[in-house]
Amino acid sequence: MNAPANPAAFLDTLKRPEAGATPVTVAFGDGIGPEIMQACLKILVAAGARLAFEPIDIGERVYLSGNTAGIAPEAWESLRRTKVFYKAPITTPQGGGFKSLNVTVRKTLGLYANVRPCTAYAPFIATKHPDMDVVIVRENEEDLYAGIEHRQTDEVVQCLKIISRPGCEKIVRYAFEYARAHGRKKVTCFTKDNIMKLTDGLFHKVFDEIGAEYPELEKEHWIVDIGAAKLADNPSQFDLIVMPNLYGDILSDVAAEIAGSVGLAGSANIGEHCAMFEAIHGSAPRRAGQDLANPSGLLLGGVQMLVHVGQADVAERVHNAWLKTIEDGVHTYDIFTEGVSTKKVGTQAFAAEVIARLGQRPTTLRAADYAARPTMRLPTWTRKPPAKKELVGIDVFVHAPGIAADALAATMKQGVFGPYELAMITNRGVKVWPGGLPETFCTDHWRCRYMAEPGKPLHHAMIAELLGRLAKAGVDFIKTEHLCTFDGEPGYSLGQGQ
Ligand code: NAD
Repeated sequence: MNAPANPAAFLDTLKRPEAGATPVTVAFGDGIGPEIMQACLKILVAAGARLAFEPIDIGERVYLSGNTAGIAPEAWESLRRTKVFYKAPITTPQGGGFKSLNVTVRKTLGLYANVRPCTAYAPFIATKHPDMDVVIVRENEEDLYAGIEHRQTDEVVQCLKIISRPGCEKIVRYAFEYARAHGRKKVTCFTKDNIMKLTDGLFHKVFDEIGAEYPELEKEHWIVDIGAAKLADNPSQFDLIVMPNLYGDILSDVAAEIAGSVGLAGSANIGEHCAMFEAIHGSAPRRAGQDLANPSGLLLGGVQMLVHVGQADVAERVHNAWLKTIEDGVHTYDIFTEGVSTKKVGTQAFAAEVIARLGQRPTTLRAADYAARPTMRLPTWTRKPPAKKELVGIDVFVHAPGIAADALAATMKQGVFGPYELAMITNRGVKVWPGGLPETFCTDHWRCRYMAEPGKPLHHAMIAELLGRLAKAGVDFIKTEHLCTFDGEPGYSLGQGQ
């Protein structure tokens, strides 16, 4: 079975939603998307989900019709009204010019938290880590995914890593509240704040600040490289891990795969106003239309959705019937193991097996208990009052090929006219003037740092004047960054070797 020719007609085949059912926007997606979505909707409806589905069109067909965002303008109206999106995977067409639909939806709707439970189902599904039960909470909007990239010189391109205090506060608060509501005992934070002291440093600092409000939970921080190694080697030492976007993107796939298969994990994308639920895998085009694909990842995304809309009783019924099906050895091809599995089934037959077990609970695997858990109640986020900010310097970034640092310093000093001086030049972050080493390789991209005399803060007009003088001296400056203190704390890093 491939894409329903008419999603609305498929939805009409399901039991009609009762009055007062929660409206949910649903997208059938591409590749295996339509067939796994149909399987999941049949299960949810059979379990008594009080949901009214509204179909929208997203993905390959929309991209190829000339819409580079992959989502039709009218789809936003449904998403903004229902505020709940159940989404099958889509295919992003090859080639440039197509924007990631997932990133667009997450950021447009402010879905700041990505929650991916990664659980082993040993001995029924092969895994190297039978005790693994980790939830990855990934920041979903910021970091290098801000998508702000520039080519600055012939030799250098940059991608801005944006980390905000509100972004950190929201995701860290979410992680601790999730841990509390779901009976998790330990919250771990991964960052690389030994290198990125301001950006990852802020994430870690906010983790410590907010963590102090949860005395009943164990807290720890790992540098992401060794943390990732420990996660891959011994995941049962972790319970819930919160991390910035890029690390979370990579490590949630690693965690899902080592738990058993990326094909099994669901994913919730939660915002203050809206939420989106999906599988973590893609559209697996080579498996499409053959009734082979495993609907489990999307189904477990659906379970997260039911909890989110306040139908924990139905979520529990679906999850427990699914666990019992897995336990009974009824498996799709991707998790089928001779000697462990008892029956190999296709997508729709798997759905029928889950439906036949609604009301049953697993006997070996830990049963789901959503109905007994407290509802998550996130406090409203409030902005902190601004700090006292003083402009104490400026970094001028310069495109200058084939020049020695001393010669560049002589040129850059021509811009100085007030109570500040050229303090340092770096190349790719390492100090090359004053006192650089001839061994340091230099590109055509330089950062020239001017610092104000102590007690004499700069003002914007002085910076405009400095840049005017540098332009007259023929300097090809490509960008500037202001160096400020906030309540006396420097808001900039030192040069490496400074
Ligand atoms: P993929 O996850 O679609 O598939 C990788 C392989 O995993 C498949 O070949 C298949 O063998 C297996 N697999 C994945 N899901 C399965 C399932 N439910 N049942 C059985 N086997 C399954 O990754 P890919 O091949 O790199 O990407 C294919 C397309 O999906 C690309 O266009 C990509 O952009 C898109 N994608 C979409 C999403 C999303 O919509 N959230 C996420 C990732 C990738």
